[in-house]
Amino acid sequence: MSSTKDKKIKAIEVAAERCRNCDLYRHATQVVFGSGNTSAKIMIVGEQPGNAEDLAGVPFVGPAGGVLKHCLEEAGIREDEVYLTNAVKHFKHHISGGGKRRLHDRPNAAEVKACHPWLEKELAVVRPKIIVALGLTAARSVLGRTLVISKERGEILDELEGGARVIISWHPSAILRSISREQSAKMRQELVKDLKLAKKKTDYSR
Ligand code: SF4
Repeated sequence: MSSTKDKKIKAIEVAAERCRNCDLYRHATQVVFGSGNTSAKIMIVGEQPGNAEDLAGVPFVGPAGGVLKHCLEEAGIREDEVYLTNAVKHFKHHISGGGKRRLHDRPNAAEVKACHPWLEKELAVVRPKIIVALGLTAARSVLGRTLVISKERGEILDELEGGARVIISWHPSAILRSISREQSAKMRQELVKDLKLAKKKTDYSR
């Protein structure tokens, strides 16, 4: 049975389907809103839906989502313990391969800003203790400031209005795109470590 929070998130999602705050809705299949446990202590925020997510209408179901799910498991976090969402709710991409492939483009600052109110609404309903922001776009959207991931990851950062603390880490798609197997393994280990930190923090917070 749906909880009150589930219903509130659903209502926000329905409103977001009509959003025209930026142009990204024009070429996307659908809005991809957050999913998971709406009472979660941990909210995971990615950049934007990818090709698979755009088609499915659900976040983190593509290859990067697969990496994230394995890392959550390694960190001892069940999928039903988290709420998953993105900083930007429509898939930004360009067409390649003679019209056959849709390749990811990073959302610009204006698009991230335009979409931020939807993330704020999700935060106001879920009220997580910890937000794990994956990648630069998510981290900037959540923290509202510039940063360098390699310098600030692995720590409990700023406290947001409402009391949530922030941890930033690598986006799984950056792990998949990394320049070498060694680099990929290192980033993956760091993501698992950061997720373990999130779990440890929430285990002591209530
Ligand atoms: S990306 Fe965000 S701001 Fe832009 S149209 Fe979609 S929901 Fe609205």
